Amino acid sequence: MPLVIAMDGPSGSGKSSASKGVARTLGLRYLDTGAMYRAMTWWMLENGVPVEDGAAVAARAQDPVIESGTDPAAPTIMVDGTDVSAPIRTRAVTNAVSAVSSVPAVRARLVELQREIIGAGGIVVEGRDIGTVVAPEAPVKVFLTASAEVRAARRAKDLAADPGASVTVTRAEQERRDRLDSTRKASPLAKAAGAHEIDSTGLNLDEVIEAVVRLAKE
Ligand code: C5P
Repeated sequence: MPLVIAMDGPSGSGKSSASKGVARTLGLRYLDTGAMYRAMTWWMLENGVPVEDGAAVAARAQDPVIESGTDPAAPTIMVDGTDVSAPIRTRAVTNAVSAVSSVPAVRARLVELQREIIGAGGIVVEGRDIGTVVAPEAPVKVFLTASAEVRAARRAKDLAADPGASVTVTRAEQERRDRLDSTRKASPLAKAAGAHEIDSTGLNLDEVIEAVVRLAKE
């Protein structure tokens, strides 16, 4: 398989910044699969679909038109022609996304789209199941981790504009989401066979990027 770098890990592990940085350094495209699950969730909420009802979500899983831009300098995500880059980051979406992404029909649809985008390769793909399900043949697989404290602090910073997003609240919500993502039946978050584990707790962004670039050049 041509160069595909699979970057998996829990929320707040630093995947997004590292994946974009690696793509820019190596001149590759970039795909944020989490944004696709968030876009699907945003659409379900907008259309009044009860997100805890798996059958109701499955019945609408084919309906939204989701388009991902793959420029690491300006990644975009569109649903039905509307740019939803900002609304998919709200707490309402963040707290509903695990339920929607546990629905097999949602995963089947988005994995198919992701494989189309990955196509001939030359891309850094971040998510939860890239090395295990979406692109198990990827020549470079990374499992990025960080301590729970560092992950919650990073997420709270992302949500700084959102009142109520204290480190304590964020950490509780994040622990819930990580628990749901790791224990669901459909493609749970897991370290892929052959993945290199990088703990970013004591590393700055450049050091994480450097470690991944080194693996890609091996
Ligand atoms: O990466 P991010 O935190 O934006 O992902 C949002 C959610 O999308 C995750 O909590 C998870 O439920 C889901 N997801 C997934 N599989 C992926 C990427 C994200 O289930 N490959």
